[in-house]
Amino acid sequence: MPKDFYNILGVAENASKAEIKKSFRSLAKKYHPDRNPGDKSAEERFKDISEAYDVLNDDKKRQQYDMMRKYGGAYAGSGGPGGQGGFDFSNFGNGTFRTEDLGGFGSFADIFSSIFGDNDIFGQAGRGSSRRGKTALRGNDLSLNLSINFEDAISGTKKTIALNKPETCLNCSGSGAEPGSGQETCPQCGGRGTISTAQGAFSVSRPCPRCLGRGVMPGKACRVCGGTGQTKVKKRINIKIPAGIDDGGKIRLRGMGYPGRNGGADGDLIVTVDVKKHQQFDRKGNDIYTKVEISYPQAVLGCKIPVKTLTKSINLTIPPGTVHGTKLRLKGMGLSVNGGQGDQYVEIIINVPDKVSDKQKKILEELQKEM
Ligand SMILES: [Zn+2]
Ligand SMILES: [Zn+2]
Repeated sequence: MPKDFYNILGVAENASKAEIKKSFRSLAKKYHPDRNPGDKSAEERFKDISEAYDVLNDDKKRQQYDMMRKYGGAYAGSGGPGGQGGFDFSNFGNGTFRTEDLGGFGSFADIFSSIFGDNDIFGQAGRGSSRRGKTALRGNDLSLNLSINFEDAISGTKKTIALNKPETCLNCSGSGAEPGSGQETCPQCGGRGTISTAQGAFSVSRPCPRCLGRGVMPGKACRVCGGTGQTKVKKRINIKIPAGIDDGGKIRLRGMGYPGRNGGADGDLIVTVDVKKHQQFDRKGNDIYTKVEISYPQAVLGCKIPVKTLTKSINLTIPPGTVHGTKLRLKGMGLSVNGGQGDQYVEIIINVPDKVSDKQKKILEELQKEM
């Protein structure tokens, strides 16, 4: 069910703007998180009150809301998808919270300074130009998978990839506001950029999801980035893949992820390397596994057989009487990464032919008699 904004503010459906404002001010004062530290229900109430006021104070939004209330069904605002309960509150997130008709108050924070006579309620954030809170947010990490072949993983390689890299929008410098359209104090966090949540005996602050920690909402969303403050730019990125990287290995490229907000550090690009399977070599850690086929006489009599290692080809001596499935170890022929030296294990497969010539058949029958 959509929230009943009239009920939340305790006003009648035909309440005047002055009545709505009056009720909002007294409720906001009562339920402000700073006045109710650690009180989750007060915080929820405060959010609801701010949201209700945000809508009912705006003639256009109030009209839309009234229509929705009267006729029910999904309300999709100006082209947006219907939100939870059929009413898309995100349409009200674009800074249409106007304070100029609040009797000369410049911002949401000012309302409180005025009510409480001082800036105490907002602490540091309530003074001078820093009144509008800005929470530095580190950019998110960006991740992608990169497939390379077995040999490249062993020897190391360089790859160039094309990437749609998120960058700070140049048009709005990351503020999300169309230049010249001004900014409004965020109604959800009251301009602080953070929301406090009670967790047991403690109060935990997290960045405000509505204004993304900025404390302000754009007067008009930036036409380039749509208000997110970020755009995607095609970039070519060189990635150095270290020798010996294993399947699933990760490479971190610092600062190549999503840009930080409000002066926060940029996120990283995390590249997960998928190593393609090799026809002959199998890898487990630093050890390499291969197979070699020999005939029955070779197994019985012993032989020398060419075997490939990672770096060269050698002649492996198979001792007489080697049984099927024997694993011969080539010491030091594996990888030497992560401070270890691996070996190569050669598994002996005895090839049993399903077709033999008449001559071979005769010899085998002779052999059978002998045995
Ligand atoms: Zn906010
Ligand atoms: Zn922008």
